[in-house]
Amino acid sequence: MLATDDRAPRATVRLPAVLADYACARTLVCCKPPWRVYLGPHEDHVLIGRVSQAGDRRLTARVRAAIERPAPGITLLAQPDDGCPLLDEDAAGCAVHRVAGMGALPATCRNFPRSVVRAPDGLEVAFLLQCPTAAGIVARHPAPFTWVERDAAAWPYDDRRAADRALWWDHRTPLTYDALAALRAAWWGRLAAAGEAAPAPEPLLALHEAPEHPSAAATTTALTAADPDDLLASAEQRFLERLDARGDAYRERADDVAAALAAPPTDARLARAWAAAPHAYLCAAGLALQHAGVHTRQPVRDVLRGAAWQTLEAVQLTAKLLPLALGTPLDAVADSLCVAAHVSRWLAHAARA
Ligand code: SF4
Repeated sequence: MLATDDRAPRATVRLPAVLADYACARTLVCCKPPWRVYLGPHEDHVLIGRVSQAGDRRLTARVRAAIERPAPGITLLAQPDDGCPLLDEDAAGCAVHRVAGMGALPATCRNFPRSVVRAPDGLEVAFLLQCPTAAGIVARHPAPFTWVERDAAAWPYDDRRAADRALWWDHRTPLTYDALAALRAAWWGRLAAAGEAAPAPEPLLALHEAPEHPSAAATTTALTAADPDDLLASAEQRFLERLDARGDAYRERADDVAAALAAPPTDARLARAWAAAPHAYLCAAGLALQHAGVHTRQPVRDVLRGAAWQTLEAVQLTAKLLPLALGTPLDAVADSLCVAAHVSRWLAHAARA
């Protein structure tokens, strides 16, 4: 059965309460690899026009030179190794933003880390924890998943697409939008109930084991160390070194970091990592599973399991980072949530390639 699209959309935009007051802190992660800025139809002309209107001829020429069309129907901003060519020379900010204001930015840049999608019942916003600012909010101020609503007429971020009309549980089984809504709500309820005590990562293990059964108990309740994986460890290190706040520190201690990432954490370290911020992990899982069916085109089952995997990966990473003491324990949690989100996306891309 297909998702229904005949319901009346709300006049509001709904977004997760924990990140409702998110404000960009100019970490500029979205301006550097692995992020790319894809431009929508005619957005290249709009961008050139806005910068030109602002009267900066040199920047207008830079924008023209930055636009690439690698294939029919694909337009994007070039990206040399060190990031977007529209970054200011001191890499302290975006020249387009500085000269022409936020409204001139391409929608990809303006929206990041938001995913704004037209769901059958109205606009829905999800967030990407690949943004260190968003990950930091979740680490330091976690909250169970609830919605807040904003006036759609005053919402400044464009929706980039509509949710797919056909939803899929797996590669064979269709799903209705109502079933998806009930499933997401059930998992948010379970994560919230666990958050009242947060004694163990059991809800995350259950989400990974049986995403279709939000009330079933997990067969295992304790974390176990993941098998060492060289490729994963090198990806983790790469993303840690790109973090805005502590990337330098991770680079300076590169050998120690590599050794920590290569060894499986002990049970005691895993327990310490969980105890450092159980509510943050539960909150992060709720945000990750929100993407299912609405914000990605992957089968819902894969996204729910992926949300659990990503969060458990963050716990594993925290367990490895805590002994390095490169910041506070909550810094390690924030960095781990952010890097686990990057790694998860990187793996999903690798699997599709
Ligand atoms: S246009 Fe500006 S905000 Fe967008 S990626 Fe380039 S430097 Fe960053």
